[in-house]
Amino acid sequence: MAMTDRLGRESQKGTSPLCLPSQLAPAAYGALYLHIPFCASRCGYCDFTTEATSPGDPRLDAYVERLVRDIRSAAREGLLAQVTTVYIGGGTPSFLGSRRLVNLVYTLSLSMNLGSETEFTLEANPESLTPALVRDLYSLGVNRFSLGVQSFDDAELAALGRAHDANAARRALATIRERADNVSVDLMCGIPHQSTASWQHSLSEALRGGASHVSVYPLTIEEATPFANAIAAGHQAPPDEDVQAQMMEAAADVLGAAGLLRYEVASYAHPGFECRHNIAYWTGVPYLGLGRGAAGMRTAADGMRERLLDGEVTERLTPAEAMREDLMCGMRMSAGVLHDAVHAAEPLVPGITERFEELVALGLAASAEGRYRPTSRGWLLGNELYGRIWNC
Ligand code: SF4
Repeated sequence: MAMTDRLGRESQKGTSPLCLPSQLAPAAYGALYLHIPFCASRCGYCDFTTEATSPGDPRLDAYVERLVRDIRSAAREGLLAQVTTVYIGGGTPSFLGSRRLVNLVYTLSLSMNLGSETEFTLEANPESLTPALVRDLYSLGVNRFSLGVQSFDDAELAALGRAHDANAARRALATIRERADNVSVDLMCGIPHQSTASWQHSLSEALRGGASHVSVYPLTIEEATPFANAIAAGHQAPPDEDVQAQMMEAAADVLGAAGLLRYEVASYAHPGFECRHNIAYWTGVPYLGLGRGAAGMRTAADGMRERLLDGEVTERLTPAEAMREDLMCGMRMSAGVLHDAVHAAEPLVPGITERFEELVALGLAASAEGRYRPTSRGWLLGNELYGRIWNC
Protein backbone atom coordinates (compact mmCIF):
# COMPACT_ATOMS: atom_id res chain seq x y z
CA MET A 1 0.00 0.00 0.00
CA ALA A 2 1.32 3.41 -0.92
CA MET A 3 1.49 5.74 2.03
CA THR A 4 3.03 9.11 2.59
CA ASP A 5 4.28 10.51 5.84
CA ARG A 6 3.92 14.03 7.15
CA LEU A 7 6.47 15.34 4.69
CA GLY A 8 4.76 13.85 1.69
CA ARG A 9 7.32 11.10 1.18
CA GLU A 10 6.17 7.91 -0.41
CA SER A 11 7.08 4.79 1.46
CA GLN A 12 6.84 2.50 -1.57
CA LYS A 13 10.03 2.46 -3.52
CA GLY A 14 10.36 2.76 -7.26
CA THR A 15 10.51 5.42 -9.85
CA SER A 16 6.85 5.60 -10.66
CA PRO A 17 4.21 6.69 -8.24
CA LEU A 18 1.51 4.27 -7.38
CA CYS A 19 -2.16 5.14 -6.99
CA LEU A 20 -4.37 4.16 -9.82
CA PRO A 21 -7.33 3.07 -12.08
CA SER A 22 -11.05 3.29 -12.59
CA GLN A 23 -12.45 5.75 -15.10
CA LEU A 24 -11.13 3.96 -18.18
CA ALA A 25 -12.17 0.60 -19.54
CA PRO A 26 -10.24 -2.38 -18.15
CA ALA A 27 -6.72 -2.59 -19.62
CA ALA A 28 -7.00 0.86 -21.25
CA TYR A 29 -3.81 2.65 -20.35
CA GLY A 30 -3.99 6.41 -20.12
CA ALA A 31 -0.29 6.93 -19.35
CA LEU A 32 3.00 5.37 -20.45
CA TYR A 33 6.20 5.23 -18.39
CA LEU A 34 9.58 4.18 -19.81
CA HIS A 35 12.31 3.43 -17.29
CA ILE A 36 16.00 4.07 -18.01
CA PRO A 37 18.01 2.34 -15.25
CA PHE A 38 21.41 3.94 -15.88
CA CYS A 39 23.24 6.90 -14.34
CA ALA A 40 26.65 8.58 -14.59
CA SER A 41 27.33 7.75 -10.95
CA ARG A 42 25.42 6.64 -7.92
CA CYS A 43 24.18 9.29 -5.47
CA GLY A 44 24.71 8.56 -1.78
CA TYR A 45 21.03 8.50 -0.87
CA CYS A 46 19.61 6.64 -3.87
CA ASP A 47 18.01 3.21 -3.82
CA PHE A 48 16.26 3.47 -7.20
CA THR A 49 16.50 0.74 -9.79
CA THR A 50 19.53 2.06 -11.59
CA GLU A 51 23.24 1.45 -12.02
CA ALA A 52 26.25 3.60 -12.72
CA THR A 53 28.07 2.96 -15.97
CA SER A 54 29.81 4.75 -18.84
CA PRO A 55 27.99 6.30 -21.81
CA GLY A 56 29.86 3.90 -24.12
CA ASP A 57 28.55 0.78 -22.37
CA PRO A 58 27.20 -1.45 -25.19
CA ARG A 59 24.39 -2.55 -22.88
CA LEU A 60 22.83 0.89 -23.35
CA ASP A 61 22.27 0.20 -27.04
CA ALA A 62 20.93 -3.26 -26.28
CA TYR A 63 18.59 -1.82 -23.65
CA VAL A 64 17.21 0.78 -26.05
CA GLU A 65 16.77 -1.87 -28.73
CA ARG A 66 14.77 -3.98 -26.28
CA LEU A 67 12.61 -1.00 -25.36
CA VAL A 68 11.99 -0.29 -29.03
CA ARG A 69 10.73 -3.85 -29.46
CA ASP A 70 8.55 -3.56 -26.34
CA ILE A 71 7.02 -0.29 -27.58
CA ARG A 72 6.24 -1.79 -31.00
CA SER A 73 4.76 -4.85 -29.37
CA ALA A 74 2.60 -2.74 -27.01
CA ALA A 75 1.39 -0.73 -30.01
CA ARG A 76 0.48 -3.90 -31.93
CA GLU A 77 -1.58 -5.07 -28.96
CA GLY A 78 -3.42 -1.73 -28.93
CA LEU A 79 -2.10 -0.82 -25.49
CA LEU A 80 -1.01 2.68 -26.50
CA ALA A 81 -4.23 3.74 -28.23
CA GLN A 82 -5.54 5.82 -25.32
CA VAL A 83 -2.25 7.05 -23.87
CA THR A 84 -2.22 10.83 -23.42
CA THR A 85 0.90 11.28 -21.28
CA VAL A 86 4.37 9.79 -21.76
CA TYR A 87 7.14 9.96 -19.18
CA ILE A 88 10.71 8.77 -19.69
CA GLY A 89 12.18 8.50 -16.21
CA GLY A 90 15.03 6.85 -14.40
CA GLY A 91 17.75 6.56 -13.46
CA THR A 92 18.95 9.29 -15.76
CA PRO A 93 17.28 9.19 -19.20
CA SER A 94 19.48 12.01 -20.54
CA PHE A 95 22.49 9.78 -19.82
CA LEU A 96 21.46 7.75 -22.90
CA GLY A 97 22.43 10.67 -25.11
CA SER A 98 20.64 12.17 -28.08
CA ARG A 99 21.12 9.32 -30.59
CA ARG A 100 19.58 6.65 -28.39
CA LEU A 101 16.77 8.88 -27.11
CA VAL A 102 15.90 9.98 -30.64
CA ASN A 103 15.58 6.30 -31.52
CA LEU A 104 13.14 5.78 -28.64
CA VAL A 105 11.08 8.89 -29.26
CA TYR A 106 10.93 8.28 -33.00
CA THR A 107 9.68 4.76 -32.30
CA LEU A 108 7.00 6.19 -30.05
CA SER A 109 6.00 8.68 -32.71
CA LEU A 110 5.36 5.76 -35.09
CA SER A 111 3.58 3.70 -32.46
CA MET A 112 1.03 6.03 -30.93
CA ASN A 113 -0.65 9.36 -31.41
CA LEU A 114 2.00 11.86 -30.29
CA GLY A 115 -0.05 14.95 -30.95
CA SER A 116 0.57 18.40 -29.57
CA GLU A 117 -1.91 17.57 -26.82
CA THR A 118 0.23 14.69 -25.58
CA GLU A 119 2.28 15.60 -22.52
CA PHE A 120 5.71 14.09 -23.14
CA THR A 121 8.21 14.43 -20.29
CA LEU A 122 11.91 13.59 -20.31
CA GLU A 123 13.78 13.41 -17.02
CA ALA A 124 17.27 14.81 -17.32
CA ASN A 125 20.26 15.55 -15.13
CA PRO A 126 22.46 18.59 -15.68
CA GLU A 127 25.66 16.65 -16.39
CA SER A 128 24.18 14.91 -19.44
CA LEU A 129 21.75 17.48 -20.79
CA THR A 130 23.15 19.10 -23.95
CA PRO A 131 21.76 21.69 -26.39
CA ALA A 132 21.70 19.03 -29.13
CA LEU A 133 19.71 16.66 -26.96
CA VAL A 134 17.09 19.28 -26.14
CA ARG A 135 16.92 20.41 -29.79
CA ASP A 136 16.51 16.89 -31.17
CA LEU A 137 13.95 15.68 -28.64
CA TYR A 138 11.92 18.86 -28.63
CA SER A 139 11.58 18.64 -32.41
CA LEU A 140 10.26 15.09 -32.08
CA GLY A 141 7.55 15.93 -29.56
CA VAL A 142 9.11 15.99 -26.10
CA ASN A 143 7.43 19.06 -24.63
CA ARG A 144 8.25 18.84 -20.94
CA PHE A 145 11.62 18.47 -19.23
CA SER A 146 12.08 17.48 -15.61
CA LEU A 147 15.52 18.47 -14.39
CA GLY A 148 17.05 16.73 -11.37
CA VAL A 149 18.85 19.63 -9.69
CA GLN A 150 18.31 18.95 -5.96
CA SER A 151 20.29 22.05 -4.90
CA PHE A 152 22.03 25.09 -6.32
CA ASP A 153 24.72 24.89 -3.62
CA ASP A 154 27.97 23.14 -4.58
CA ALA A 155 28.71 21.89 -1.07
CA GLU A 156 25.24 20.35 -0.78
CA LEU A 157 25.53 18.74 -4.21
CA ALA A 158 28.88 17.26 -3.21
CA ALA A 159 27.39 15.95 0.04
CA LEU A 160 24.65 14.22 -1.95
CA GLY A 161 27.18 12.69 -4.33
CA ARG A 162 25.61 14.33 -7.37
CA ALA A 163 27.51 14.23 -10.66
CA HIS A 164 27.04 17.96 -11.40
CA ASP A 165 27.64 21.30 -9.78
CA ALA A 166 25.35 24.30 -9.49
CA ASN A 167 26.69 25.98 -12.63
CA ALA A 168 25.89 22.90 -14.69
CA ALA A 169 22.35 23.02 -13.32
CA ARG A 170 22.01 26.69 -14.26
CA ARG A 171 23.31 26.01 -17.77
CA ALA A 172 20.98 23.03 -18.23
CA LEU A 173 17.97 25.03 -17.13
CA ALA A 174 18.87 27.85 -19.53
CA THR A 175 19.37 25.35 -22.36
CA ILE A 176 15.91 23.88 -21.86
CA ARG A 177 14.30 27.30 -21.58
CA GLU A 178 15.68 28.28 -24.99
CA ARG A 179 13.03 25.96 -26.43
CA ALA A 180 10.57 24.62 -23.91
CA ASP A 181 8.51 26.62 -21.43
CA ASN A 182 7.32 23.53 -19.57
CA VAL A 183 10.22 22.69 -17.28
CA SER A 184 10.21 21.21 -13.83
CA VAL A 185 13.03 21.39 -11.30
CA ASP A 186 13.44 18.85 -8.48
CA LEU A 187 14.82 20.25 -5.24
CA MET A 188 15.64 18.47 -2.01
CA CYS A 189 15.53 19.71 1.58
CA GLY A 190 17.17 18.28 4.68
CA ILE A 191 20.54 17.86 2.92
CA PRO A 192 23.51 17.65 5.31
CA HIS A 193 24.75 21.15 6.18
CA GLN A 194 21.84 22.80 4.35
CA SER A 195 20.52 25.96 5.99
CA THR A 196 17.13 27.59 5.60
CA ALA A 197 18.86 30.42 3.73
CA SER A 198 20.53 28.08 1.23
CA TRP A 199 17.22 26.23 0.74
CA GLN A 200 15.48 29.50 -0.02
CA HIS A 201 18.34 30.39 -2.34
CA SER A 202 17.90 27.13 -4.28
CA LEU A 203 14.16 27.73 -4.61
CA SER A 204 14.81 31.27 -5.85
CA GLU A 205 17.40 30.09 -8.36
CA ALA A 206 14.93 27.61 -9.83
CA LEU A 207 12.45 30.44 -10.23
CA ARG A 208 15.04 32.81 -11.71
CA GLY A 209 16.01 30.08 -14.17
CA GLY A 210 12.45 29.95 -15.47
CA ALA A 211 11.05 26.78 -13.88
CA SER A 212 7.32 26.55 -14.48
CA HIS A 213 7.04 23.62 -12.07
CA VAL A 214 9.00 22.76 -8.94
CA SER A 215 8.91 19.50 -7.00
CA VAL A 216 10.27 19.60 -3.45
CA TYR A 217 11.33 16.51 -1.55
CA PRO A 218 12.78 15.89 1.88
CA LEU A 219 15.91 13.73 1.91
CA THR A 220 14.94 10.22 2.96
CA ILE A 221 17.31 7.58 4.23
CA GLU A 222 16.80 4.27 2.47
CA GLU A 223 18.22 0.98 3.66
CA ALA A 224 21.63 -0.16 2.44
CA THR A 225 22.53 3.18 0.85
CA PRO A 226 25.84 4.92 1.65
CA PHE A 227 23.86 7.49 3.63
CA ALA A 228 22.20 4.79 5.74
CA ASN A 229 25.57 3.18 6.38
CA ALA A 230 27.16 6.50 7.34
CA ILE A 231 24.34 7.24 9.77
CA ALA A 232 24.56 3.75 11.29
CA ALA A 233 28.31 4.23 11.76
CA GLY A 234 27.76 7.58 13.44
CA HIS A 235 29.54 9.49 10.67
CA GLN A 236 26.47 11.42 9.58
CA ALA A 237 23.43 12.78 11.43
CA PRO A 238 20.00 11.59 10.29
CA PRO A 239 17.77 14.25 8.73
CA ASP A 240 15.82 16.29 11.26
CA GLU A 241 12.15 15.89 10.38
CA ASP A 242 11.13 19.09 12.13
CA VAL A 243 13.68 21.05 10.10
CA GLN A 244 12.49 19.34 6.92
CA ALA A 245 8.88 20.19 7.76
CA GLN A 246 9.86 23.85 8.25
CA MET A 247 11.68 23.81 4.91
CA MET A 248 8.65 22.34 3.15
CA GLU A 249 6.60 25.20 4.60
CA ALA A 250 9.26 27.70 3.52
CA ALA A 251 8.99 26.27 -0.01
CA ALA A 252 5.25 26.94 0.05
CA ASP A 253 5.96 30.58 0.94
CA VAL A 254 8.71 31.19 -1.64
CA LEU A 255 7.03 29.37 -4.51
CA GLY A 256 3.58 30.68 -3.65
CA ALA A 257 4.86 34.27 -3.65
CA ALA A 258 6.14 33.67 -7.20
CA GLY A 259 2.71 32.53 -8.36
CA LEU A 260 3.31 28.78 -8.37
CA LEU A 261 0.33 27.00 -6.88
CA ARG A 262 0.76 23.99 -4.63
CA TYR A 263 -1.42 21.51 -6.48
CA GLU A 264 -0.03 18.46 -4.67
CA VAL A 265 1.73 17.99 -1.36
CA ALA A 266 5.19 18.25 -2.97
CA SER A 267 4.39 19.84 -6.35
CA TYR A 268 4.07 23.48 -7.35
CA ALA A 269 3.25 24.89 -10.77
CA HIS A 270 2.19 27.97 -12.61
CA PRO A 271 -1.44 27.41 -13.66
CA GLY A 272 -1.52 25.14 -16.71
CA PHE A 273 1.89 23.60 -16.00
CA GLU A 274 0.78 20.90 -13.56
CA CYS A 275 2.21 17.48 -14.42
CA ARG A 276 -0.63 15.62 -16.09
CA HIS A 277 1.29 12.36 -15.96
CA ASN A 278 1.61 12.46 -12.17
CA ILE A 279 -2.00 13.55 -11.85
CA ALA A 280 -2.91 10.41 -13.78
CA TYR A 281 -1.10 8.38 -11.12
CA TRP A 282 -2.96 10.17 -8.35
CA THR A 283 -6.40 9.88 -9.92
CA GLY A 284 -6.55 6.18 -10.68
CA VAL A 285 -5.65 6.15 -14.37
CA PRO A 286 -4.11 2.82 -15.47
CA TYR A 287 -0.55 3.17 -16.72
CA LEU A 288 1.80 0.95 -18.65
CA GLY A 289 5.40 0.67 -17.49
CA LEU A 290 8.09 -0.53 -19.89
CA GLY A 291 11.75 -1.19 -19.10
CA ARG A 292 13.69 -2.85 -16.31
CA GLY A 293 12.24 -1.91 -12.92
CA ALA A 294 9.24 -0.09 -14.42
CA ALA A 295 6.02 -0.16 -12.42
CA GLY A 296 2.60 -0.34 -14.00
CA MET A 297 -1.03 -0.53 -12.99
CA ARG A 298 -4.16 -1.83 -14.66
CA THR A 299 -7.69 -2.97 -13.93
CA ALA A 300 -8.11 -6.69 -14.51
CA ALA A 301 -11.15 -8.21 -16.18
CA ASP A 302 -12.43 -9.37 -12.76
CA GLY A 303 -12.40 -5.76 -11.49
CA MET A 304 -9.30 -6.15 -9.35
CA ARG A 305 -6.64 -3.46 -9.50
CA GLU A 306 -3.31 -4.99 -10.41
CA ARG A 307 0.06 -3.45 -9.77
CA LEU A 308 2.92 -4.68 -11.90
CA LEU A 309 6.68 -4.59 -11.78
CA ASP A 310 8.73 -5.71 -14.79
CA GLY A 311 5.47 -6.88 -16.37
CA GLU A 312 4.64 -9.23 -13.47
CA VAL A 313 1.66 -8.71 -11.17
CA THR A 314 3.00 -7.93 -7.71
CA GLU A 315 -0.19 -6.89 -5.94
CA ARG A 316 -3.95 -7.16 -6.42
CA LEU A 317 -6.37 -4.78 -4.75
CA THR A 318 -10.08 -5.38 -4.34
CA PRO A 319 -12.43 -2.71 -5.73
CA ALA A 320 -12.94 -1.47 -2.15
CA GLU A 321 -9.19 -1.20 -1.61
CA ALA A 322 -8.79 0.52 -4.97
CA MET A 323 -11.52 2.97 -4.00
CA ARG A 324 -9.85 3.76 -0.68
CA GLU A 325 -6.57 4.21 -2.49
CA ASP A 326 -8.13 6.63 -4.99
CA LEU A 327 -9.66 8.70 -2.21
CA MET A 328 -6.38 8.69 -0.31
CA CYS A 329 -4.41 9.73 -3.39
CA GLY A 330 -7.01 12.37 -4.17
CA MET A 331 -6.21 13.97 -0.83
CA ARG A 332 -2.56 14.39 -1.87
CA MET A 333 -3.81 17.05 -4.27
CA SER A 334 -5.08 20.48 -3.35
CA ALA A 335 -8.22 19.79 -5.40
CA GLY A 336 -9.06 16.98 -2.97
CA VAL A 337 -12.08 14.80 -3.71
CA LEU A 338 -15.70 15.57 -4.51
CA HIS A 339 -18.32 15.02 -1.83
CA ASP A 340 -20.20 13.08 -4.47
CA ALA A 341 -17.24 10.76 -4.99
CA VAL A 342 -17.04 10.07 -1.26
CA HIS A 343 -20.79 9.40 -1.05
CA ALA A 344 -20.61 7.17 -4.10
CA ALA A 345 -17.91 5.12 -2.36
CA GLU A 346 -20.19 4.28 0.61
CA PRO A 347 -21.50 0.94 -0.75
CA LEU A 348 -17.91 -0.29 -1.17
CA VAL A 349 -16.41 1.48 1.84
CA PRO A 350 -19.11 1.81 4.51
CA GLY A 351 -18.49 4.70 6.89
CA ILE A 352 -16.23 6.63 4.51
CA THR A 353 -18.39 9.80 4.59
CA GLU A 354 -18.27 9.81 8.37
CA ARG A 355 -14.51 9.30 8.19
CA PHE A 356 -14.10 12.37 5.96
CA GLU A 357 -16.21 14.44 8.38
CA GLU A 358 -13.90 13.21 11.12
CA LEU A 359 -10.91 14.47 9.11
CA VAL A 360 -12.60 17.87 8.91
CA ALA A 361 -13.20 17.88 12.68
CA LEU A 362 -9.53 17.05 13.24
CA GLY A 363 -8.42 19.91 11.00
CA LEU A 364 -6.79 17.51 8.53
CA ALA A 365 -9.30 18.35 5.79
CA ALA A 366 -11.66 21.18 4.93
CA SER A 367 -15.08 20.88 3.39
CA ALA A 368 -16.29 23.54 0.98
CA GLU A 369 -17.80 23.95 -2.49
CA GLY A 370 -18.71 20.29 -2.74
CA ARG A 371 -15.19 19.04 -2.04
CA TYR A 372 -13.05 17.73 0.76
CA ARG A 373 -9.56 19.20 0.49
CA PRO A 374 -6.44 18.59 2.56
CA THR A 375 -5.42 21.40 4.91
CA SER A 376 -1.79 22.41 5.47
CA ARG A 377 -1.99 20.51 8.75
CA GLY A 378 -3.32 17.48 6.87
CA TRP A 379 -0.40 17.57 4.45
CA LEU A 380 2.02 18.01 7.33
CA LEU A 381 0.47 15.02 9.12
CA GLY A 382 0.17 12.96 5.95
CA ASN A 383 0.52 9.62 7.70
CA GLU A 384 -2.52 10.36 9.80
CA LEU A 385 -4.58 11.84 6.97
CA TYR A 386 -3.95 9.03 4.50
CA GLY A 387 -3.91 6.31 7.15
CA ARG A 388 -7.37 7.22 8.42
CA ILE A 389 -8.78 6.93 4.90
CA TRP A 390 -6.95 3.72 4.12
CA ASN A 391 -8.00 2.10 7.40
CA CYS A 392 -11.67 3.01 7.06
S1 SF4 B 1 20.94 10.47 -10.58
FE1 SF4 B 1 18.95 9.98 -9.63
S2 SF4 B 1 18.57 7.82 -10.13
FE2 SF4 B 1 20.75 8.23 -10.55
S3 SF4 B 1 21.79 7.60 -8.69
FE3 SF4 B 1 21.37 9.80 -8.48
S4 SF4 B 1 19.37 9.93 -7.43
FE4 SF4 B 1 19.63 7.83 -8.17
